[in-house]
Amino acid sequence: MRPEILYPLFAPVTSLPGIGPRFAQLIAKVAGAHVVDLLWHLPTGLIDRRYAPSVAEARPGSVATLTVRVDHHLPARTQRYPYKVICSDETGELDLVFFHAHRDYLEKALPVGSTRIVSGKVEVFDLHLQMTHPDHIGTPEEAADLQIVEPVYGMTAGLAPKTLRRAMQAALASVPELPEWLDPSLLKSRGWPPWKNAIIAAHAPKGPGDLEPTTPWRMRLAYDELFANQIALALVRARWRRLPGRRIAAPGRLRRDAVSRLPYALTGAQQRALGDIVSDMASDGRMLRLLQGDVGSGKTVVAFLAMLDVVEVGAQAVLMAPTEILARQHHATIAPLAEAAGISVALVTGRDRSKERRVALEGLKSGSAAIAVGTHALFQDDIEFRDLAFAVIDEQHRFGVHQRLALAAKGHAINVLVMTATPIPRTLMMTAYGDLEVSRLTEKPPGRRPVDTRVVSIERMGEMVERLAAAIASGARAYWVCPLVEESESVDLAAATERYEGLRARFGERVGLVHGRLKTAEKDAVIHRFASGAIDILVATTVIEVGIDVPEATIMLVEHAERFGLAQLHQLRGRVGRGGLQGVCVLVYQPPLGETAKARLNVLRETHDGFRIAEEDLRLRGAGEVLGARQSGLPAFRLADLGAHADLLGMAHDDAAMVVGKDADLASARGQAIRSLLYLFERDAAVRTTRSG
Ligand code: ADP
Ligand code: MG
Repeated sequence: MRPEILYPLFAPVTSLPGIGPRFAQLIAKVAGAHVVDLLWHLPTGLIDRRYAPSVAEARPGSVATLTVRVDHHLPARTQRYPYKVICSDETGELDLVFFHAHRDYLEKALPVGSTRIVSGKVEVFDLHLQMTHPDHIGTPEEAADLQIVEPVYGMTAGLAPKTLRRAMQAALASVPELPEWLDPSLLKSRGWPPWKNAIIAAHAPKGPGDLEPTTPWRMRLAYDELFANQIALALVRARWRRLPGRRIAAPGRLRRDAVSRLPYALTGAQQRALGDIVSDMASDGRMLRLLQGDVGSGKTVVAFLAMLDVVEVGAQAVLMAPTEILARQHHATIAPLAEAAGISVALVTGRDRSKERRVALEGLKSGSAAIAVGTHALFQDDIEFRDLAFAVIDEQHRFGVHQRLALAAKGHAINVLVMTATPIPRTLMMTAYGDLEVSRLTEKPPGRRPVDTRVVSIERMGEMVERLAAAIASGARAYWVCPLVEESESVDLAAATERYEGLRARFGERVGLVHGRLKTAEKDAVIHRFASGAIDILVATTVIEVGIDVPEATIMLVEHAERFGLAQLHQLRGRVGRGGLQGVCVLVYQPPLGETAKARLNVLRETHDGFRIAEEDLRLRGAGEVLGARQSGLPAFRLADLGAHADLLGMAHDDAAMVVGKDADLASARGQAIRSLLYLFERDAAVRTTRSG
């Protein structure tokens, strides 16, 4: 249950005075629907209104707060002219200028003969000092409220800064004192304020330096958020560790035989990863390990070999892929190797009533099928295993690991290996997985030539098409990936379709189109035609990322490459030049390209090291962009900026490990305070994993 002290913060913003449903909708757009969301919406700038000169002294171009007498009103002669209110002090005259003015309102706000405080930008026009649409108009009693440094917030159309500020002030007034969840010695050594002071200071900048991520208050808030994230992960992990393990102590005969039958030698990285996995499984604890490596680095083979130990002790293993295409590919890789060892592999991808599926399910139930490969359909209720002991989860690019762990935790003492092709930087990995054990395949199988990568302007489209025609004439096959338009699949599709039509006009029948809206069977049919060589050019939206494997394809052309994450581009590039042929990757950009964008694309020309590429992307674009926000599923932070606060993440990780190590049920006084922190950052699902949750 959420602690009562937090109720006001989780009330809808309409609970704030003066905020009705209409404003609430706009506020929800910029910040969120609850009071707490306003607190997390930190200012991005400020306006200093403390400059209060006389009219004669006011510097044109500056923001000033002036005390003036209202002399007379000059209503607009026609719609085209502004309404003017002529004011003055003893040093000179100031015209207030209003377009589309409401006369009633102005006569009330600025009665002739009264003294008023006006704040806004002063300018000179026609030799007159004027202020167009003052930001604030007040009475002399309100001077102290107006002559301030005003925070500036990210806005949306229709929401007046004044309204947002009013809501913000009310939200800040409702901030409770919360019990301290941080270690007092940390606060002292860092000079960080208590939480309530930090949130108030963050919204009250006095100068530009106060908006920096390195101020004590912003650091404290960032740390709180990272600490909540790390505590939540540590709790899930601690629960995992409490579950009984399953020791798989096989002599390793099947595995060694299979290795000797492989047409190649394992790389050093593959051997090390396999060693890690085998020894994890042979220990008493429950295995939870991440296997990271580019597409084609040989993860599937490693996973398969590890499965053989499980099979050898008479238990079963599954490999779960995110899509049906990938599941079928894994099956195609594994089945021949398994059959050579006399092991039968079941493929489970759908819910259909086919004979094939029935046979597969029977095999899993009886144990005659020792290995299953499939999609999440593997975890449907009607699927029974005789003795499942090992699950390999191929995440490819998505990160749903904790939900899937929950799934895998059902009933069985299953060892889990998560595979990912995304080279996630260490910092990001820590936010997504906590201290998961990791094996990395940093070394490629021998004989792979680096893909020749070029960065080309779209203005050279004609030339590119001619080169493509020449390459195809000599037998090449090419992917043509179309622009990724943010958050809109239908727009993506329109662009891809248009390009497809254009290429059809030039190349005729030998062009295919594949996208996310196609039915699986249709998609498979097109891909099959590309794989078999019936078509030469496959126009695609980014669906090809999640697994199309055509070794004969050698050209990868990506339009609007500047819109992709580097890790994504690197993965697309990994699709070509796999069959021992020289691959070419053409990154087509739309000029003009800014300095950062240019530097980003050049990183891909300079290196093929996926981990370095991901680190660079993190440095150049920040965490949210690294993997393409729409598909990453990584936790998003509102206060922490992983570029600026990376060192805090390491601290938060260690701090969380210590807390959970000593007090996994958050029962101590600090543990209780940490519960409030978890609720504050809506990580309360983790609280329920404690015994007294
Ligand atoms: P991943 O799962 O990491 O994408 P795979 O395991 O599918 O990679 O391997 C890609 C291809 O490389 C497969 O055809 C596999 O047979 C081959 N392969 C794997 N390991 C080696 C190796 N050590 N030497 C040569 N080829 C390898
Ligand atoms: Mg693979």
